[in-house]
Amino acid sequence: SAVDAEKEVVVVPELPPFDYSPPPYAGPTAEEILAKRREYLSPSILHSYKNPVNIVEGKKQYLFDEKGRRYVDAFGGIATVCCGHCHHDVVEAIVNQTKKLQHSTVLYLNHAITDFAQALASKLPSDLKVVFFTNSGTEANELAMLIARLYTGCHDIISLRNAYHGNATGTMAATAQSIWKFNVVQSGVHHAVNPDPYRGIFGSDGEKYARDVQDILNFGTSGNVAAFISEAIQGVGGIIELAPGYLPVVYNTIKKAGGLFIADEVQAGFGRTGSHFWGFEAHNVVPDIVTIAKGIGNGIPLGAVVTTPEIAEVLTRRSYFNTFGGNPVCTAAGLAVLKVIEKEQLQQNAFVVGSHLKERLTALKDKYELIGDVRGRGLMLGVELVTDRELKTPAKNETLHVMDQMKELGVLIGKGGYYGNVFRITPPLCFTKEDADFVADAMDLTLSRM
Ligand code: PLP
Repeated sequence: SAVDAEKEVVVVPELPPFDYSPPPYAGPTAEEILAKRREYLSPSILHSYKNPVNIVEGKKQYLFDEKGRRYVDAFGGIATVCCGHCHHDVVEAIVNQTKKLQHSTVLYLNHAITDFAQALASKLPSDLKVVFFTNSGTEANELAMLIARLYTGCHDIISLRNAYHGNATGTMAATAQSIWKFNVVQSGVHHAVNPDPYRGIFGSDGEKYARDVQDILNFGTSGNVAAFISEAIQGVGGIIELAPGYLPVVYNTIKKAGGLFIADEVQAGFGRTGSHFWGFEAHNVVPDIVTIAKGIGNGIPLGAVVTTPEIAEVLTRRSYFNTFGGNPVCTAAGLAVLKVIEKEQLQQNAFVVGSHLKERLTALKDKYELIGDVRGRGLMLGVELVTDRELKTPAKNETLHVMDQMKELGVLIGKGGYYGNVFRITPPLCFTKEDADFVADAMDLTLSRM
């Protein structure tokens, strides 16, 4: 531990050993890249990160900057790199497929696409077996909402306040945080009270929050609805686990109103939560439609919508296709990812290492007033900073400061939540106990200096 028990002095932690150092970097400097980025790339987001690191290589759970400095990647490319950066098997599958066939269309057959669709369907319960590939989580959720609307003949959709489901017109409507919403036409989505055990008005009483969904049906719709869409653990929203008992009640309410349940597994899927392969499995409900992205391709652009044959039938009413969705290179990557997760038991590792890290972080909460809450499952963990525990005053500046200091110590960590005061810890699922200790030690040291 970083804490010397007798003296209560927090020592500077050392990165876990790793047998690789990148070759010397001969590319442009961070300053040169930043100047180009400012001139030629979208200015959005950039303003909130000062001095972004210039990442030139990634190996397993580590990232290297242009000086060869190694960082523990505690954000995993926003919960995306699940097998680890540049995993040998995934790279090999991509390279082999690229040499054979880079692109195909729905007009022809290719087994790289069907093999992965079958493997993906085999990971899902019940009759969830018809796969539509997309390139992103946004596209997957757009399609899922379209399918639900066609199937039910209803337009209204219910999503949770604080949710993030994407940034195209339909999904931006479902997303429910002002910073991600532009003032454009967004129709047909109602936002239910978030069953947030930390900040929510009913604490951990899931059934009480669930009543709001019935209220929305009664007072905001005709009584019928196309779908309820939800993440099992809100990611961008600040790693918020839905209060226990919430989803099963809402599921029944939605079914009675003729609607479908869309599980957005973009962040919580693919073994990240450790206890289950899919986030919804912890809630004892089986969705009608599952949307997937991020971890599915280990960073290769790939998303998917999976539903039942009966529901999928609605798309035969018109022609529907996506040029790049289900590109054979991406699906070859997807198949390799699934094999790596199984071979290396990454879901089990997420459970073991995630539980250890959560324990370490919870101990820090006992030590530092600034930590208001520690939550999450597996390797999808959140640490919320507050300046006043009673009032839960968001410690936004402190969060940025800790993030910056941890970067100096060698940890790259994400942040989020409505107030921007929650650390999001979503590393590659090959994270080790030593990496977890390093992250906790770095946070300990940083907080001890404040
Ligand atoms: N759904 C969830 C839960 C997400 O976290 C995200 C992105 O962060 C999306 C959907 C949108 O995915 P993408 O950024 O690939 O469009």
